[in-house]
Amino acid sequence: MTITLPDLPYAKNALIPHISANTLEFHHGKHHAAYVNNLNALLEKSELKGNSLENIIKATAEDQSKTSIFNNAAQVWNHTFYWHSMKPNGGGEPSRELSVRLKKDFGSVESFVADFKKAGITQFGSGWVWVCLDIKADKLIIVKTKNAETPLSNSNLIPLMTCDVWEHAYYLDYQNKRPDYLSIFFDSLVNWDFMADNLEK
Ligand code: MN
Repeated sequence: MTITLPDLPYAKNALIPHISANTLEFHHGKHHAAYVNNLNALLEKSELKGNSLENIIKATAEDQSKTSIFNNAAQVWNHTFYWHSMKPNGGGEPSRELSVRLKKDFGSVESFVADFKKAGITQFGSGWVWVCLDIKADKLIIVKTKNAETPLSNSNLIPLMTCDVWEHAYYLDYQNKRPDYLSIFFDSLVNWDFMADNLEK
């Protein structure tokens, strides 16, 4: 089984003016595509060839000899999850049910958003911010990961939504202003329904 680049769940111009078609052209068409191509090339010489993407990530997360496979596989998965974490005309208020859950675990929806943004701003260098369900504690938590690292490889966590804070996600539209990108992400892009669906599952 070859790993394939999934289509974006919306048109490349669908997130304008918040994320340009140019950004999505590079981010999906070049960066995400490169991770897919690199991974398939690496899998040609690996016994992991033929496994699902999720299994490849879980099998290589703790294996120092397979860092290249892990990095590319995790980045393929992380990006697909990120595309679905946004939608055209996103943002606004979460559903009543999700609001209740966010209030329970973070005090309020506003506190959740503030904590998530702070995590994104303080992630040094490249990485990701996630909201995950901590299965053992039955609690929603915010998780920062660096570079390609992903909560998918942690069996205690179920990722619900993510924001890419690598510079390539925002530099063409926001230059160095990561805080502005994170604000727009919540104001106009976040797909609360994707998060709610992942929580329900
Ligand atoms: Mn990215």
